[in-house]
Amino acid sequence: DAEVVLVGRSNVGKSTVMRELTGHDVSVGGKPGVTRQPNHFDWTSESFMFTDLPGFGFMSGVESERREEIKTDVIRYVEENAEHVLAGVVVLDGKSAVDIIDRHRERGNVPHDVEMFAFLEDVGVDPIVAVNKTDKIDDLDERLNEICDRLGLYPPWQQWSDTVAPICAKRGDIDALEECLRDRFHEHN
Ligand code: GDP
Repeated sequence: DAEVVLVGRSNVGKSTVMRELTGHDVSVGGKPGVTRQPNHFDWTSESFMFTDLPGFGFMSGVESERREEIKTDVIRYVEENAEHVLAGVVVLDGKSAVDIIDRHRERGNVPHDVEMFAFLEDVGVDPIVAVNKTDKIDDLDERLNEICDRLGLYPPWQQWSDTVAPICAKRGDIDALEECLRDRFHEHN
């Protein structure tokens, strides 16, 4: 069965996105990094499966060794299932993503979101970037252009509307993401 995986730092809104996509009430705002097993959900209308992978990156109260373990699990899971993973959705907090990416870069590190985006491409899983919390962003076009730039997608962002989906999961506005997923689903069939 075709599968869609959701990845992203903790607290970006993955559980909220998942709930909006599936109608299942998954526990929102639980302890980050605690769930190590991927959670599976069915999206009955299109008959593919969603997998919410545990958050990676900064998790308060979680030791760095444990964080690395979780990240390794996520990467291994996607590698092992790449053949039937139709799309990988990288969920970002649109308000803070650019600052966090730039901070990591200044320290000479590869930011987690950038790493995950590139990793999905490497294993042949087409990434979709769900830019969440758009209700907290003043100049959305400008912010989406910055996000594209950081991910190596040449702005303007409108050129990438099949890859970049601005959403506000909290208000149930995930149309752009559903549109991206529908496209992938139709390409696949
Ligand atoms: P996860 O750790 O990635 O699964 O994130 P959650 O789904 O638990 O959400 C983390 C927090 O962000 C919660 O307090 C949500 O209510 C909030 N949140 C989720 N989506 C949005 C959104 O679109 N806008 C805003 N302002 N907050 C959101």
